[in-house]
Amino acid sequence: MSELTSLALPHVASLHAYTPGLQPGESGWVKLNTNECPYPPSPRVMDAIRSALGADGSSLRLYPNPKSAPLRAAVARHHGAGLTAENVIIGNGSDDLLNLLVRAFCANSATAGITFPSYSLYPVLIGIQDGRTEVIPFDRSMRLPVDRIISSSARAFFLTSPNAPTGVAFSNAELERVLAGFPGLLIVDEAYAPFAEENAVSLLAAHPRLVVVRTLSKAHALAGIRVGYALAHPEIIGLLDGVRDSYNVNALSQAAALAAIEDPDYYAAIIARIKATRDRTTVDFAVRRRWFTYPSSANFVFTEPKDAHGVSSPAVAKSAYDFLVAHKVLVRIFPSHALTASFLRITVGTDQEMLVLSDTLDTWSKTHTA
Ligand SMILES: *Cc1c(COP(=O)(O)O)cnc(C)c1O
Repeated sequence: MSELTSLALPHVASLHAYTPGLQPGESGWVKLNTNECPYPPSPRVMDAIRSALGADGSSLRLYPNPKSAPLRAAVARHHGAGLTAENVIIGNGSDDLLNLLVRAFCANSATAGITFPSYSLYPVLIGIQDGRTEVIPFDRSMRLPVDRIISSSARAFFLTSPNAPTGVAFSNAELERVLAGFPGLLIVDEAYAPFAEENAVSLLAAHPRLVVVRTLSKAHALAGIRVGYALAHPEIIGLLDGVRDSYNVNALSQAAALAAIEDPDYYAAIIARIKATRDRTTVDFAVRRRWFTYPSSANFVFTEPKDAHGVSSPAVAKSAYDFLVAHKVLVRIFPSHALTASFLRITVGTDQEMLVLSDTLDTWSKTHTA
């Protein structure tokens, strides 16, 4: 270890940073690797950014609203369900809020619970905090291990629903069983809930230990703007406000997010299109190709490719991945664990992008064996 590195705290010196999905610098890719929206944001978002900027940009001299107060109120109105602005906190992406939750509730003396597989940022954030982690693995069914979560030692438990990278959603009935038995804070990361049939927002009123985390990066086509929010009991929101940066969301992002939240009809239409494409894609993989594919409630599908001999394996998944990359189609593989290594995670793009994907996979599966 270098002398400079040894000046850092030991847990910092040994950190492994989060690995984001590839963002290719040049165009021409069919980009199905990071679950971004294939359609543009509401046109009102562009108008809102232009008017927040003003004619000469002089509004940028001023600090943004420190609490994102108008946006908190709009999010509460949007969800209804008895929520007020006191139940809402805005983050610089939902990753900011996940970080605040770890900062407030996780330490070496306060275990954080996570499942595997799940969003791989959680263990990174817990590591930055030098926190203790309890990992509860799924089995191949990917159903929620309710009883194991209830009997975990976690102070705070992070669940993703619909889960990533599987797309499998957990029902409110299952979440209520967890909430009835688990004494800690249950954080449900609903990054993909706009694509699902059910979500946990209606459980908030009766369950003060529930936190629901949302993002505008996926269904709202605003990954570049970096806005997410959390919904929770006002006391939890107050604790999170105590550990956030005082100006954590910039002025242009607040304006853009407000315009998006206030155009639900636009988003209902693109979400319906994405779900229709997802369902056609799932049928194509599961029925025509006979590839094992989890039922997805998200904007991606998790499918287990078979080679020309009908074989699935990590090597087969890697072969399909490499072939797709060679043809400028980018998807995601998760080679580090047996539960995920033989699968591809494919973001639902436009119908045209899914056609390119399908044709490329047809060529691969006719010609390639691992
Ligand atoms: C994409 C994603 C996020 C990150 O959202 P940002 O708002 O862009 O930070 C959080 N959780 C899960 C499960 C995601 O897939």
